[in-house]
Amino acid sequence: MRLGLAANQLHHAHADAALFRWLRACGAGIRELGLGLHAVGRTYDAIERSGLLADYAPLRRYPYGREGGLMKLVAEVVGLGDDRVLDGAIYLIDPVDPSSIFPEAVALKRQCVIHGKPFISTVASARDWIELERIHAGMAPDTGADAFYALESQTVALIAHDAMKPQMLAYATEHFDVLSRFACRVGTGTTGQRLNELAWSRGWPVQVPWVERYQSGPLGGDAQIADLVLERRCQRVIFFEDPHVARQHEADIQLLERAVTTRTDEAVCITSPRVAARWAEAVRLRRATVLA
Ligand code: PGA
Repeated sequence: MRLGLAANQLHHAHADAALFRWLRACGAGIRELGLGLHAVGRTYDAIERSGLLADYAPLRRYPYGREGGLMKLVAEVVGLGDDRVLDGAIYLIDPVDPSSIFPEAVALKRQCVIHGKPFISTVASARDWIELERIHAGMAPDTGADAFYALESQTVALIAHDAMKPQMLAYATEHFDVLSRFACRVGTGTTGQRLNELAWSRGWPVQVPWVERYQSGPLGGDAQIADLVLERRCQRVIFFEDPHVARQHEADIQLLERAVTTRTDEAVCITSPRVAARWAEAVRLRRATVLA
């Protein structure tokens, strides 16, 4: 497996910056998985200086951003054959860094979504992803990742654009047990309604909403859910977006995804059904291991 890797300047600016918090928490997991990392120039240089991945051959250097490093990662997410195919990207975003909304940054996420690959924008998402891949690889749970599996004390947001609603319903049907473990589920208006109907049809007590519904997306639901994230009242966002249409409320969608990056150590965002399914399977597998 190989991921692109970039971090906005703030996130590698000092010894305890986000990039290094991730590497300290996950350096062992990265080595266990043999994870290939294609890191853009300054991010690569910062990792080298830190010594946190010393002598790790699967770490490769890409050009600086101004020389097209991030653009090359986008092309590799799409795929260029053989050793130039990425399985996803980690882009640790500082929401007030203007480069985080450069076209190549937006395209990086978009192509990950289009190709069903993980787009990982927070430290929490990056830690969560390493652990879920470790679990799928049959490794023993890392107790350092336990917090990401304490679903009973957390809230999950479930949002799907119209073309993706059937996939969200199929996902919720298949992983109803995992999603039901959360203390609370929230969603945008129409997605929430469809999910509630699904839950009631499966025996969830009628009158009790399975999902707490906010406004419909185009009427501001994403912004309302973003506020929950900012208030540390929502720890995981599962957002099935439709990248193939112009979205009237694009700004609100970006707002929510950027709210998640302000809570980089706590909030996880999953933008593809494939990754969401892999995560839910890992939750089940990890629990079975811990209880065994
Ligand atoms: P909806 O909103 O669940 O109300 O359809 C989702 C969206 O379009 O953002």
